[in-house]
Amino acid sequence: MTRLLIVGPQGSGKGTQGIRIAEAFGVPAISTGDVFRAAVADGSDLGSQVKAIIEAGDLVPDELTSAVVRERLSQADAEGGFLLDGYPRNVAQVMHLDEFLEGRDEELDAVILLDVPRDESISRIALRAQEQGRTDDTEEVIANRLSIYERETAPILGVYEARDLVVHIDGMGTLDEITERIVSALEARGLVRVPVA
Ligand code: AMP
Repeated sequence: MTRLLIVGPQGSGKGTQGIRIAEAFGVPAISTGDVFRAAVADGSDLGSQVKAIIEAGDLVPDELTSAVVRERLSQADAEGGFLLDGYPRNVAQVMHLDEFLEGRDEELDAVILLDVPRDESISRIALRAQEQGRTDDTEEVIANRLSIYERETAPILGVYEARDLVVHIDGMGTLDEITERIVSALEARGLVRVPVA
C-alpha cells in the first residue's frame, strides 16, 4: 500500500517522474490534467465543462475536480495505493482528499516535491510546447498557470510539512538521476518498491 502525491510547478517534470515512481512502487499514476485532457478529446460532458477553463490555464472548480478524483480512486486498480499528479492543487482540495481518505481509513505516505528553478521550468515548458503542442502551453497561459501554482498550490506544502510528509527532491539532472533520488528518498522513509520483473 503506497499512497503518494507528486507536487511541483509546471515544467518540473512531475508528470514524467510520476509515471516512473508509480511504476517502481506498483501503483497507478493518476494525473488530473490527463483525465481532463482525455475528457476534452472525447467530447464528454466533463470535457465540455472543463475545456475553456483548461485553455485559460485556470483551475477547474474544486467540487468537480474532487468528484473526478474520488471516482478515479474508487476504481479497483487504486485499491492497493496510488500516485496523484496535479491534485490537490489548493487547500480546499487538500481538505476534500483528507475527508475521502479518512472515510476509507487510509493515509498518505509521502508528498514528493520536485524543486526546479523558475527559469528552468519555463524553458522546459517552452520545449514541451514545441514537442506536444498543448493548447495551454502558450506564453500567456503559462504565466497564469505558474502564478496560480505560486498563489494556490505552494501553500498546500505547509499543510503537508506540518504532517511531516514532504520529501524535497532536487529536480535538476537527468531523468534517471531524478528518479533514483526520489526512489531512494521514499525507501529511506520505509516505502517498499516492487521487485523488477
Ligand atoms: P496539468 O496537466 O496538471 O498542468 O493540468 C492541466 C490543467 O488541468 C490545469 O491547468 C487546470 O486547468 C486543470 N487541472 C488539473 N488538475 C487540477 C486540479 N487539481 N484542480 C483544478 N484544475 C486542475
